[in-house]
Amino acid sequence: MTWRQHVKRAALSGGVYRALAPGRPFPGLAVLAYHAVLADDVARAVVPFAPLHVGASTFRSHCAMLASHCDCLSLADACAIWEGRVPMPRRGVVLTFDDGHRGLVAHALPSLERYGIPAAVHVCTGPVASGASFWFDVMARRESEAAVEAAKALPYDVWRTRLQVAVAAPDDPVAPLDPVQLRHLAAHPLITLGAHTVTHPILARAPRDVQAREISESVQALAEWTGITPTAFAYPNGRPDLDFDAATMAEVAKAGCGVAFTTHEAFARPDEPAMARSRFLILADVDAAELAHRLLISWPR
Ligand SMILES: [Zn+2]
Repeated sequence: MTWRQHVKRAALSGGVYRALAPGRPFPGLAVLAYHAVLADDVARAVVPFAPLHVGASTFRSHCAMLASHCDCLSLADACAIWEGRVPMPRRGVVLTFDDGHRGLVAHALPSLERYGIPAAVHVCTGPVASGASFWFDVMARRESEAAVEAAKALPYDVWRTRLQVAVAAPDDPVAPLDPVQLRHLAAHPLITLGAHTVTHPILARAPRDVQAREISESVQALAEWTGITPTAFAYPNGRPDLDFDAATMAEVAKAGCGVAFTTHEAFARPDEPAMARSRFLILADVDAAELAHRLLISWPR
């Protein structure tokens, strides 16, 4: 542990962040972007993109801190706030999970339930339907994480030729949800499902008709599986202008979504476009004290 981490942990356990909180209202909502939540005993060395995925006990400590320091909101509450129908809370937080990993049910849901924290899960629907691993995990395992980053920069048609399919192993810690788990989450009072494309392409690299299909078919698949038509979307990779563009935003709106999330890191203020809501990416090395520090002190206001 570095001395900075040590100081922040002492500040959290000593109630310093809690004491600071009343004087540090957020300038918008803090939307947090998680991916998978891994069992604590998973061998991280064999997990592709392991830094993207927080551990279960880290996640539990995030939930404990958020429940006592912030106002944890459902997606519907957040939209009502952004639309001006409900006043902005002083420290509003929205939890989101991208891709839709199987481990959410076992490793995230218990902490959400324990602290009564709502969350939105943006599901990439192709792997749910087929039982295949996410393309980036297959490529990272067979080639490298660098190969994945290179593939993301390819034009859509070239990218398609690079894809390989592999059925997700039952014990794969980054396997996608299966349809039964998806329905379980959809029916859960704390969970809202959103769409995240069918195959997880970089939408801005794809022709408009492909973008439209990737977006609308993921919305339709979720509606068919769960009986609930999703009204939220998260852009794969999520960087404005690089990973999605104005055409993408128009297609997301056309598919019936009223809100869409990026990976641009900022507090999500009411005046930003509903089709480009900012989020903060939460990585595995962010402990509860670091998260409290970022929320109350270091994230730009
Ligand atoms: Zn994703």
